[in-house]
Amino acid sequence: MSIQIRNATIVTMCSHYPEPFQGDIIINKDRIEAIIPAQANTEYASEHAAAPGSEMEMQIIDGTGMAVMPGLINAHQHTPMNLLKGFSDDLKLMDWLEQKMFPAEARMTAEDIYWGSKLSMAEMIRSGTTTFADMYIHMDQIAHAVTETGMRASLTRGLVFGDDRADERIREAIDLVERWQGGADGRITTMFGPHAPYTCPPQQLREVIALAEQYQRPVHIHLAETVEEVSIIREKYGQTPTEYLYQLGLFEQLHVMLAHGVHLNHRDIGYLRGMRGGIVHNPVSNLKLGCGIAPIVALQQHGITVGLGTDGAGSATTLDMFAEIKAAAWLQKLDYGDPTRLSAYDALQLATIGSARLLGLDHETGTLEAGKKADLILIDLVKPHLQPVHHLYSTLAYAAVGGDVHTTIVNGQVLMRDRQLLTMDESVVLTEAHTRAKRIVEGI
Ligand SMILES: [Zn+2]
Repeated sequence: MSIQIRNATIVTMCSHYPEPFQGDIIINKDRIEAIIPAQANTEYASEHAAAPGSEMEMQIIDGTGMAVMPGLINAHQHTPMNLLKGFSDDLKLMDWLEQKMFPAEARMTAEDIYWGSKLSMAEMIRSGTTTFADMYIHMDQIAHAVTETGMRASLTRGLVFGDDRADERIREAIDLVERWQGGADGRITTMFGPHAPYTCPPQQLREVIALAEQYQRPVHIHLAETVEEVSIIREKYGQTPTEYLYQLGLFEQLHVMLAHGVHLNHRDIGYLRGMRGGIVHNPVSNLKLGCGIAPIVALQQHGITVGLGTDGAGSATTLDMFAEIKAAAWLQKLDYGDPTRLSAYDALQLATIGSARLLGLDHETGTLEAGKKADLILIDLVKPHLQPVHHLYSTLAYAAVGGDVHTTIVNGQVLMRDRQLLTMDESVVLTEAHTRAKRIVEGI
């Protein structure tokens, strides 16, 4: 199947094209075959005119009045937690985790996880996310949901230690990597996921690091999300959470994706310099839990890659990456008292190529370029809250919301067209999610 997107305003997020331009995009199977600026169109059409009788199946999407940009990449998620959205808000992180999330999660069955992840995928496709990184349990269920929905995902079995089930969990983490790396036509990749410094003692962390090195897979871990976490690690080990991971050798060879990185001092940032991977910023969750402001601009100044995520909907409540783009920009401007920090373009980069680099997928996605995977979204600009458009990057970063996404394409497959989901029955997902969510939280 080929797709031609005609007459759209193209935002490549690639340095070869600093400004948006009018043109067409040709998709051949799973990849972008060509990006054709309007003035070059006639030339391309005559060169690529189909020979008589060789006409291939071509789907035409009229991009008039629309922007087309790379699909957004949510680099830190716990998809099944969408079932717990809004059930325990306005609590401190550790109370929220221990009194609400852990008891609720203990009731979740493998089937609940499947439907919770599908609810998240419906929300993500609807709001322009094409790729996400997930850390949870029963990852087979999520891998099946990814296979069915057509999204791209980096999956991680979250590893929490402190009881006698460590070996079992590590076995599941290995199974996920062995079974699913490269699965769903290459749309699934995998990582190892020790949950956080405060849930992973040194011995187990060393074991996971050795496994990640053996399997040549990246590591996805939470880091320095709250002041409480910094105190806990200081009390236990006399170190900051970053020092703790650094001294265990986590940043020596591995590609590492660190979620949050809110509380980092100058020395911590020094430890991260030169690391492979980088930090996933989750500004809405950080704001809502009152965690603090991650030093995104400072990290970038030290050459550390930053991407963007929502964290689970259990804390962030929304999976709309456009909300994260706004929050990321606003927080840096507020923190520095300087509106020139983290521009609209910079914030859009976090959600696209920044996150792609963190997932180790920047050679395949994160920008619109011929030869890359066809992961892209069309945004309907003909709306009062998006008009007039003086600077499209400003419109997309500061005015657009997930509900403005008209079409979502992943790996050359249209997952949503004209706001209709094409790879799942939304009413079934909503019914299952509703029934299961009510049962899980009852009495907690
Ligand atoms: Zn998280």
